[in-house]
Amino acid sequence: MKELEERIRREGAILSETVLKVDSFLNHQVDTELALTTGREFARVFGGDKITKVLTIEASGIQFAMAAGIALGVPFVYAKKKKAVTQSDKVYVAPVHSFTRGETYQVSVDQRYLNAGDRVLIVDDFLATGAALVGLVDIVRESGAELVGVGCIIEKSFQEGRGLLEAKGVRIHSLARIAAMRPGEVHFIEETGTRQLEEERA
Ligand code: 5GP
Repeated sequence: MKELEERIRREGAILSETVLKVDSFLNHQVDTELALTTGREFARVFGGDKITKVLTIEASGIQFAMAAGIALGVPFVYAKKKKAVTQSDKVYVAPVHSFTRGETYQVSVDQRYLNAGDRVLIVDDFLATGAALVGLVDIVRESGAELVGVGCIIEKSFQEGRGLLEAKGVRIHSLARIAAMRPGEVHFIEETGTRQLEEERA
């Protein structure tokens, strides 16, 4: 998504060769119009797949899962990182190690909100080491629901996440794919597949 790539170039702070800070528009202050646009983009890509539910993980996947849920006309569910007193005991659980916080969480989803009849699109802000998304994929599979695919806002393609998900047979669509970065410089992977398709259609 060109608009997203331009925003990353303009406002992203590259803190190191692996960490990108985008909290002016993505995951602290959120550009709501941009978030809604990402939802429409996922609906364009996955709209024919009869999705019944969007799944994400708190906190920074929520705004994008909501946008995708609105665009697809379905509810979204977010996995919780901490057990609340109100939480039922019937939950799907997966361990997730956080790339940015260096902690391991037991993430959980109430079994009432994910069932064998569901067709699920997982959405998250970043695909980095893949730990968060692999945890969500495991939860979907444990529930017996059908996993349609994973939609990411930003993929750092030089990290191992994509490979891990592909090894699990997961279809991935990322709106911006970073091939490499270092302070002051970011290189995106061109959307050649999409471009070729659009040229063929024209
Ligand atoms: P994972 O390593 O499991 O793929 O990424 C887990 C989470 O860490 C992402 O959902 C995202 O919230 C956060 N994360 C990973 N890499 C980055 C990064 O470069 N910048 C920011 N701001 N968050 C990141």
